[in-house]
Amino acid sequence: MYPAPFEYHVPSTVAEAVALLGQWQDDAKLIAGSQSLVPMMKLRLVQPKHVIDLRKVPGLVGVSESDGALIIGALTTHRAIETSEIARSRLPILSEAAGGIGDPQVRNLGTIGGSLAHADPAADWPAVTVALDASVTVAGPRGERTVPVEQLISGPLTTVLEPGEILVQVRIPLPGARSGSAYEKLPHPASRFAIVGVAVAVALDGKGAVRRVGGTGAAGKGDEPRLPQVGGGRCGGRPGAPCRLHRLGRLQGPPRRRVHRARPPPCGRAGGRELARLTRFPEPPAATPPRPPAR
Ligand SMILES: Cc1cc2nc3c(=O)[nH]c(=O)nc-3n(C[C@H](O)[C@H](O)[C@H](O)COP(=O)(O)OP(=O)(O)OC[C@H]3O[C@@H](n4cnc5c(N)ncnc54)[C@H](O)[C@@H]3O)c2cc1C
Repeated sequence: MYPAPFEYHVPSTVAEAVALLGQWQDDAKLIAGSQSLVPMMKLRLVQPKHVIDLRKVPGLVGVSESDGALIIGALTTHRAIETSEIARSRLPILSEAAGGIGDPQVRNLGTIGGSLAHADPAADWPAVTVALDASVTVAGPRGERTVPVEQLISGPLTTVLEPGEILVQVRIPLPGARSGSAYEKLPHPASRFAIVGVAVAVALDGKGAVRRVGGTGAAGKGDEPRLPQVGGGRCGGRPGAPCRLHRLGRLQGPPRRRVHRARPPPCGRAGGRELARLTRFPEPPAATPPRPPAR
C-alpha cells in the first residue's frame, strides 16, 4: 500500500524545522530514520500532508563525551551507536542494546531520537535510557528545554513533546567507578522488538549495590500496553544476591505469562551479569591503619 500524497520539506537548520512544524502544525510529521513512520504511512494509520525530513540538519548526528556525560545526537542511527568507540568503551550497554534492534536495515536507518519520540512500548531505547537516568534536549518555538526520559514518555506512542518541538539530543550521565549496566530482552522472533526487556544499572558502594532498572515490553494479546518502567533498590554486592527493587512490580506483575516466558527473568539475568562483572573488580585498597607510636 502507498502512503497518501504529501509535501516533502528538507530544512537545513533546527530553527527552520521548528518553523515548518509551527506553520503546518497537526498536518506535519517529522521524519528521521523512517522505520516507524513510513510503515504507519503506508498503512494509512497516519496521513501527514507535510513530511519534514531532519536528515539534512547538521549537528544532530554523533556520539561524544562532554561534562561527564555521553551526548548522542537525535539523528544518530542504532548502527552508529552499536559501533561507536566512545559508547563501547564508556557505556557498553548502548552498543549491546543497539546491536539487538531489528535487523541491519532497521539499525542502519533507525535513530535513537526517532525511537524515543515514537515511544513504542516494545522499543529498547526507552528501557535503556531510563535505567541510565538519561534526559533529552528538546528544541521548540520557545527555545530549548531538558526532559528526563523517565518523564518523556507518557503513554504508548505518546510523549510530552509539545507541538512544534523536536528532540535534538540525548544526554546520558556517565556512571562513576565500580558501576556498570546491562540489557537483556526476550526478542520477538520476527521483529526483534522486546516482548519483555530489562536494563539494569548497578553501582557498588561500601554496603552493597545500588541499582536502577528500566523495563520495556510489548503488549501481548489482551495485555495492556506498558510504559517503560523505572525502579531502584539495593542488593548485596555479590552475584545472585537478593534484591529489593521498587516499582518493578508493574513490570513483573500481571500479565505473568510474559515474565514466565522470559525465565530466568531478564532483570535478574542482566543484574546478575553486571554484578558478576563488577565484583571481579579489585576492592579499593583499605586505608593503612596508623602505626602505634614507638615507645
Ligand atoms: C522490522 C522492524 C523491526 C524493529 N525492531 C526494533 C527492535 O527490535 N527494537 C526497537 O527498539 N525498535 C525496533 N524497530 C523500530 C526502529 O528502531 C525505529 O527506527 C524507531 O522506532 C523509529 O526511529 P526512526 O528514526 O526510524 O523514526 P521515524 O520512523 O522517522 O519517526 C518515528 C516517529 O518519531 C518522530 N520523530 C522522529 N525523529 C524525531 C525527532 N528528532 N524529534 C521529534 N520527533 C521525531 C516522527 O515524527 C515519527 O512520529 C523496528 C522497526 C522495524 C521496521
